[in-house]
Amino acid sequence: RLNAISAVNKTTSTSKPLNFLEEKPTDLFGCNVFNDKVMQEHLPKPVYKSLKRTMENGEQMDPSIADAVASAMKEWALSRGATHYTHVFYPLTGLTAEKHDSFLEPDGRGGAIAQFSGSTLIQGEPDASSFPNGGLRTTFEARGYTAWDITNPAYLLENDNGVFLCIPTAFVSWTGEALDKKTPLLRSNQAIHTQTSRLLKLLGHKNFGRIQNFAGVEQEYFLVDRNFYFARPDLYLAGRTLFGAKPAKGQEQDDHYFGTIPKRVLAFMIEVERDLYKLGVPVKTRHNEVAPGQYEIAPMFEDSNLANDHNQMIMSVLKSVAKRYGMACLMHEKPFAGINGSGKHLNYSIGNGDFGSLFDPGETPHENAQFLLFCAAMIRAVHKNGPLLRSSVACASNDHRLGANEAPPAIMSIFLGQQLTDIFEQIKKGDEVTSKAKGILRVGVDTLPPLPMDAGDRNRTSPFAFTGNRFEFRAVGSSQSIAGAQLILNTILADSLDYISNRLENLMYGENWELNDAVTKIIQEIIQEHDAVIFNGDGYSSEWAVEAEKRGLANLRTTPEALPALNTDESVKLFESFGVLSKRELDSRTSIFFEQYVNAIQTEVGLAIKISRTSILPAAVRYQTELARNCLNMKELGLGCVQGPLTTLTENLNGLESAANELETMLTQKHSDEQEHAQFLCNKVLPVMTELREYADRLEEIVADDLWPLPTYQEMLFIK
Ligand code: ADP
Ligand code: MG
Repeated sequence: RLNAISAVNKTTSTSKPLNFLEEKPTDLFGCNVFNDKVMQEHLPKPVYKSLKRTMENGEQMDPSIADAVASAMKEWALSRGATHYTHVFYPLTGLTAEKHDSFLEPDGRGGAIAQFSGSTLIQGEPDASSFPNGGLRTTFEARGYTAWDITNPAYLLENDNGVFLCIPTAFVSWTGEALDKKTPLLRSNQAIHTQTSRLLKLLGHKNFGRIQNFAGVEQEYFLVDRNFYFARPDLYLAGRTLFGAKPAKGQEQDDHYFGTIPKRVLAFMIEVERDLYKLGVPVKTRHNEVAPGQYEIAPMFEDSNLANDHNQMIMSVLKSVAKRYGMACLMHEKPFAGINGSGKHLNYSIGNGDFGSLFDPGETPHENAQFLLFCAAMIRAVHKNGPLLRSSVACASNDHRLGANEAPPAIMSIFLGQQLTDIFEQIKKGDEVTSKAKGILRVGVDTLPPLPMDAGDRNRTSPFAFTGNRFEFRAVGSSQSIAGAQLILNTILADSLDYISNRLENLMYGENWELNDAVTKIIQEIIQEHDAVIFNGDGYSSEWAVEAEKRGLANLRTTPEALPALNTDESVKLFESFGVLSKRELDSRTSIFFEQYVNAIQTEVGLAIKISRTSILPAAVRYQTELARNCLNMKELGLGCVQGPLTTLTENLNGLESAANELETMLTQKHSDEQEHAQFLCNKVLPVMTELREYADRLEEIVADDLWPLPTYQEMLFIK
């Protein structure tokens, strides 16, 4: 540990500062992407046009153009120094997977040629047996296919080992079932397009482009010096510290949040941004976060499929660049107990170039009515499907965050801000929906008062906040893929939009209602039934948990409690009716997520036992021996000795040992299935882990500093 501290001081790091005079933004941004400009230059016109139609309107791809596209991609990649191509996909581990193949193929005459055909572009066959499939594919049929996701551009990944052409793909089993995060996201995009278009047509719109759903992802992370990182097996194996006493100085003084960015970190950030610009990721903001050693990066919002790929790239670039600067980038939701955790705020909206965001109030009464209707749809969606939405962010690491008085609570509610809440209240109460009485807002006739932009900033305690022209889902964990949350938001919103369109058709065509009156009536009905989900108060307060229960809102605190909602009869029906996930796919996903929970906790428990026995206990015993010897010596000299520390030390040492033994016994217990196993770990094992930690952390406060083996919180958080 002491060596690690002195090694930190020797770290030097400089980067070439980014300078838009020398590196022109237009040359830099997207220079490694097979983007529109490159395609136009390299593709025959008809091929280019056909490809664009598929990319922009989601039309079926014409298979006959694949060879031409592949050949253009190959030429471009080779001209930029690429040696390999890889289908990039997103298995259910939440990570990014790649399989590299060389462009080089023997020509049969002793030489070699560069090969890359249309069929290798469209489809790949990685050895899929090592990726989780939850029963969808037994190992003897270990075939899984990667299929080119034509809507996202291919790109070149450059690193110290060379240049690779990366092709974004979906990953499916040989029976066509989704084995990844992207496939159902793409299906849910289709559902949003279909249902939103249907409603917009009923509202009188004609001739508009494909409806998209957008994601703007704020990514939080920690940076720790690598010398400390490798001295903490818990950090590099479990992603978080399993031990560590509270530092003398915490985050109370907020001096980090408002402080300047440390030099090494700034150099790192600049290089991250340069790498991401090249990949066409529109990074926009960088800043310190609340906790010492914590930072945030956020790109501009994009189409959700692209934003998802880009978020995965951001996470890998952060990690790899951190290494170059002698640091480790921690994505875990709670690397340090008692210190703020990291989340991923998912800014969510739907719309397109014709409409902008459909969650934007707009200026005319017509736009306002439409806005209120889409807002009402979101309110209904979150109220009806709170537990399902909660399940999308359930994982072992995020359990440390949700509900821990710094991240949103595990109760799914919506923050609307006072003004918008008042407007819905008025509509709710208005008994005469077309009332012309003064002061009553007439939907579709009056204009809304201007709503404050980013009203959400004033309430950081809500898991789902309206922020002026979008909703911000703040419960996603920093290590998670956004795809899970995004596809559930899409599906539950599509369901509400479908409901609204049906109701609108009934009122207008069945009962001859005027459009405006029908819209008002539907908003009114929705608010009357679903306003229990609206909450503008302090989500951290204990009163809210009580109040939420009265309102019938679920409070699912842990993963084993939250996951089952993903696979209820109701959820299956919902996902199947919009073609997002089938029963078999949901079974497989639920089982994988439980398995991941079990694996994560088991790894942690195993590590905790090992570290306490092989690092903490020996240090404590050494100190105990020193104290005991000192006591004996003092007695021999006829002097009294200070017994206090020896007694406290011995008590905690004994406690540590017996907690470790208890954990070890618990790990040998047999279980009927994954779900029961997860519950056992959560309810029985985790409390003993906490106990073990308490003994260890007390020991850290007693044992002589020069004997303590693990880098401490203050060292990891404050030494840069
Ligand atoms: P804050 O920290 O105040 O929440 P940031 O600027 O850090 O704000 O992040 C806001 C994110 O929301 C950015 O990624 C931004 O591009 C995104 N965003 C803005 N408008 C929309 C929208 N209509 N739909 C989705 N995301 C949006
Ligand atoms: Mg935000």
